[in-house]
Amino acid sequence: MKWNRIIYRFASVPVTVLAIAFVYFFKIPNPMMILIIPVVLFTYLDGYTSGILSGSTAVIYSAYFFFIATSDVVAAEKLMTIVLAVSSIVIMVGKLKARDSRTIVQLKEAQEELVRKKDYAEEISHIKSEFLSRMSHEIRTPINAVFGMTAIGKKAESIEQKNQALNKIGEASSHLLGVINDVLDMAKIEADKLELAPVEYNFGQMLKKVFTVVGYQLDEKRQQLVVNVNENIPHYLIGDDQRLAQVITNLLANAVKFTPEDGEIRFDASIASESDGDCELCIEVTDSGIGISDEQKERLFSAYEQAESDISRKYGGTGLGLAISKRIIELMGGNIRIESELGKGARFIFTVKVRRGDTDPRTMPASGIDFVNEDSGVTDNIGSDTTVINEFAGKTMLLAEDIEINREILITLLGDTRLEIDCAENGKDALDMIGEHPNKYDIVFMDVQMPVMDGLEASRRIRQLPAHPQGKLPIIAMTANVFKSDIDKCLAAGMDGHLGKPLDMDKVLEVLRKYLMKE
Ligand code: ADP
Repeated sequence: MKWNRIIYRFASVPVTVLAIAFVYFFKIPNPMMILIIPVVLFTYLDGYTSGILSGSTAVIYSAYFFFIATSDVVAAEKLMTIVLAVSSIVIMVGKLKARDSRTIVQLKEAQEELVRKKDYAEEISHIKSEFLSRMSHEIRTPINAVFGMTAIGKKAESIEQKNQALNKIGEASSHLLGVINDVLDMAKIEADKLELAPVEYNFGQMLKKVFTVVGYQLDEKRQQLVVNVNENIPHYLIGDDQRLAQVITNLLANAVKFTPEDGEIRFDASIASESDGDCELCIEVTDSGIGISDEQKERLFSAYEQAESDISRKYGGTGLGLAISKRIIELMGGNIRIESELGKGARFIFTVKVRRGDTDPRTMPASGIDFVNEDSGVTDNIGSDTTVINEFAGKTMLLAEDIEINREILITLLGDTRLEIDCAENGKDALDMIGEHPNKYDIVFMDVQMPVMDGLEASRRIRQLPAHPQGKLPIIAMTANVFKSDIDKCLAAGMDGHLGKPLDMDKVLEVLRKYLMKE
């Protein structure tokens, strides 16, 4: 198609030059020639002669032929006229034909593209509606547990029963948080906004936390987790430990979920290669569960996909975990693959790039990490902390938080520590209270979204007070805005740290100890 055009364009040049040469050399006194040259030029150059142009060209040609036929012009000029007219008409017809066939091909292509897009849209809509119904199930189930267990807890007469109900509420809440985090992660992946936050971390400790999280599910199904961490893994690594933990947790949780009771699960980790402190970490999670067919393997890393449509009915799950894991692994410069046969268990193998940490170049002790389903405890992050009685006696916090229940939670959970807590219901009140009592507060916990004045503005203004420049009064954001961009905004507004909601009491205590126990 393109060649047609090029030939037509180039063909117009010699013909037009010839026409001009005739006019010039033969000093043709024919005024119509002056008119016909731009028409010819236009016809040739304009690949797509519009209806109007074709019409006007025809009128001009007719007029011109009439003039030639009736006037007394030289033979050369007559000849030239015929050549010009015939050639330009032939080319114009050729162009129109080419345009028509091009148009037909384009129409066909557009039609096929539309059909493809329609099929794709229908498939996406089907996958998304299935996903929505799974999500609804995944969200309603733990909420139902929270409602039900709250009712049971209220009625229960013994402390033991009440505690049991509370533990189940904790588990259900953790599960719900996991589902919400997965959905948010997926949204970030789709918007290409998922980012890593590398830090130096202790690999063994990170693993222990992961094993504690899955330990509860392992215990429930009486499964055995065999751990083999190669001693060539440095004690400290640099990378995004939280995201790595998320991937391992997801793979282990799947292994537990798809393996029958009393089954075995293996966890293997080693350094596959190292050069100049850049390590390739290789991790394998192997189970003895239902396995995955070759056809299923292809699809499982796509968002919203599960192996079979009845998987969610049997096992639950959102179908997001593997897609998120794959993206995280790719961001870490690695890849993931599955070795499995239906009914014969599955092995997920992935690599990621990490750096050897600077803090401690030693390697792991030979024994690696011992994990024999020790009393793993409940996995929730609610109330798993240990507050120390009177730990913060003599210290005062200003808590800026507009939602009453959030104030109540913090005040109650920190009750034992004897931390004095004054409350403000918005940023403006917090600012005024600090202005009135510049030396009263040792730390500020600041919600971000509040009426009257938000936490960011309040922090900026507190930092403008002469008594509280950056580095003086610690201000910690305590907010449900948990994306990296949100944390960056808090720090830019003069805050010193960030605690995400729902609050993890271990982290709350860690922050309080960091800032209040300095001296
Ligand atoms: P979810 O488990 O929440 O549905 P994932 O993305 O983690 O979402 O897993 C997607 C699907 O992959 C699962 O629904 C299941 O069909 C399959 N799958 C994942 N891990 C395993 C495993 N270890 N054994 C068998 N099937 C698995």
